[in-house]
Amino acid sequence: MMRAMSDAAALPDGGTVHPMTRWGDPVMHRPARPVTEFDDTLRSLAADMVATMYAAEGVGLAACQIGVDLAIFVFDCADEDGVEHQGLVCNPVLDLPEGKDRRLDDSEEGCLSYPGAFVPCARPDYARVTGLGLDGSPVEYAGTGMLARCLQHETDHTNGTVFGDRLSTRLRKKLRKQMEAEAEIYPDGWPAGD
Ligand code: ZN
Repeated sequence: MMRAMSDAAALPDGGTVHPMTRWGDPVMHRPARPVTEFDDTLRSLAADMVATMYAAEGVGLAACQIGVDLAIFVFDCADEDGVEHQGLVCNPVLDLPEGKDRRLDDSEEGCLSYPGAFVPCARPDYARVTGLGLDGSPVEYAGTGMLARCLQHETDHTNGTVFGDRLSTRLRKKLRKQMEAEAEIYPDGWPAGD
């Protein structure tokens, strides 16, 4: 399948890989501050987020996951047709289908900040997100499949919500057991370091 061409919102490169912040750290569980300065500091943060996302083999990453309290996320994720989409959104706002257009997909979901664990999580099978790009101009992304899940998961992070908050007690326990069983693979500092 053909890979989608990168558009003008190509992800910034040259960043530094940071350790992944984990669930339980306060920065993960409160709404992030909106981005107001579209400057070199923001570009540098975005580049670090991209580097950390790829180092961790993730499909999306929000600033709180490298310990930064700002409402911005990056993603590089396929939709249900296997087309890869890359993007960056500051101050994201989700728009989800309602009524008869709303269909739930309960595919498995995981989070780089609770690594090694995956359980089903019901979410709408389509999502649209609007916000601002690195230069402060409006951006919009929409899609299906894993991309729809990713856009929702990452916007949740900017609102201080982790997907564990959306699970039943039973599934949360299952998720914790998996995470604990995989903990040696993801030591403190992962994915930074040697
Ligand atoms: Zn996550």
